Amino acid sequence: MLADVGPLGVERMMLSESLGRVLAADVVASVSLPPWDNASMDGFAVHADDVRGATAEHPAVLRVIETIAAGQRPTRPVAMGEAARIMTGAAVPAGADSVVRVEDSGPSSDAGMVTIVDDRDVLRNVRRRGEDVIEGARVLSAGTLIGPAHVGVLASLGEVQPSVYRRPRVAILATGDELVELDGFRAVRAGERIVSSNSYSIAAAVRAAGGEPVSLGVVPDDPRAIAERLQTARGCDMILTSGGVSVGDYDHVRRVIVSLGGEISLWRVRMRPGAPLAFGRLFGVPWFGLPGNPVSALVTFELFARPLLRVLGGHRRPHRRTIRVVLDEEVRLAAPLTHYLRATLADGADGTLHARLTGAQSSGMLTSMSNADALLILPPEPMIATAGSIVRAIPLDGDLGGTDRFPGSS
Ligand code: AMP
Ligand code: MG
Repeated sequence: MLADVGPLGVERMMLSESLGRVLAADVVASVSLPPWDNASMDGFAVHADDVRGATAEHPAVLRVIETIAAGQRPTRPVAMGEAARIMTGAAVPAGADSVVRVEDSGPSSDAGMVTIVDDRDVLRNVRRRGEDVIEGARVLSAGTLIGPAHVGVLASLGEVQPSVYRRPRVAILATGDELVELDGFRAVRAGERIVSSNSYSIAAAVRAAGGEPVSLGVVPDDPRAIAERLQTARGCDMILTSGGVSVGDYDHVRRVIVSLGGEISLWRVRMRPGAPLAFGRLFGVPWFGLPGNPVSALVTFELFARPLLRVLGGHRRPHRRTIRVVLDEEVRLAAPLTHYLRATLADGADGTLHARLTGAQSSGMLTSMSNADALLILPPEPMIATAGSIVRAIPLDGDLGGTDRFPGSS
């Protein structure tokens, strides 16, 4: 699925809006950071040789020649026997090689003098020009997901409009006679229809993966209606349909894809949930036929569509990490398929993460997904995974690992 795809295109955007976007070009520093040698403490800029060996009993006594605030420049070098009072971030004057923290200084009986009562800051507390970033260095590389620290680095380097990859536009069409969108909720109350929750959950998943969802709404299980509505997906970078790809009498989607000139390269995966997944191309872009069951739709999106979407979006790391967790209960597989089971994770007393199923694992039970921290990956063999065994898991977005507002109160 990922073989013939790559990032879509590049645009420039305001740095302040760039959180969550992906850098499209390496960022080379046009300035050095810090731009000058500066103090990392409030204190006194001195010569190391003047304060070495200083103690409370035998303090060094130095003449204070000036005060340098963070926004100021020194007016003259520090000579032997002299000190400049200096604030954090201020430029260290020529001659000085150490900044003695203010806590290690004391008043002197002589006005204009300072006593230094400790020598622990000899050759310390000076942040050198370029020690963070040196001009000309490649600081960030293309494919980096922009987080708060990257925004800070880009700002420090004056990158007001970083170059980022374009967000993939993803068409989402739900199929099913039984479905309505939220504006038709009356029919749900009347017991006649169900909400097309996939229209909303998949749009949210697309957004969370860095894409821009384009809703094509809901169509009934009618080949002409499906074909007609799919025409409006032209121009999108990826197409997702939900439902109608299984073996039921009304599962028309695959035939419609072919009738529109699309091609199907894959149908059915040895997994649960999500076995009816279909994949191919339509209108020149990747198409996923997601199964209609709400959990199947989200799990197959997660495993297959999300990585492809992230490749289109230029992510260097399209896949989520997997982790190892301890199973806290026995799990019996009902069929020799790879299972993706919804689980909660919690820290165990042994320092490892422990997993429990979120309860019944029906692919129609959307709360099994909304309660989950992770998908456990159970291979077809063995069909019984014993409590205490170690399994792989895919952590999902969420606040796993956070702590309650009042720790221990739950
Ligand atoms: P299908 O894949 O079309 O056979 O649908 C399988 C199951 O998923 C059926 O119970 C459908 O009612 C349900 N389903 C299909 N599409 C959606 C949707 N968009 N939102 C919520 N449930 C759906
Ligand atoms: Mg259906």
